[in-house]
Amino acid sequence: MGLVYCRGCASQINASSSSCPNCGAVQGSDRPEGLPISNKNNLVALLLCFFLGILGVHRFYVGRVGSGIVQLLTLGLLGIWTLIDFIVILFGSFRDADNRRLSW
Ligand SMILES: [Zn+2]
Repeated sequence: MGLVYCRGCASQINASSSSCPNCGAVQGSDRPEGLPISNKNNLVALLLCFFLGILGVHRFYVGRVGSGIVQLLTLGLLGIWTLIDFIVILFGSFRDADNRRLSW
């Protein structure tokens, strides 16, 4: 036993807690330890960013539609924003609309 991450807010809580003292989210016993992970895939996001990144397609893929539209309209801020996103995805730090890391 020890500390685990809350499935609601990802703050560290005691593993024996049935709900999070910070956000109140109920913690399931079937939950794997570690940060909550997105069902979206880093490799897919990486390929979308590489081929269609200036259109913001990788952001639409992970559900971040608002910033995806901005990228679409600005052509990924002329490619610079897309390049940054590509690096972030490459290091596995890209997050979906629910602020969860993507899986590999
Ligand atoms: Zn919480």
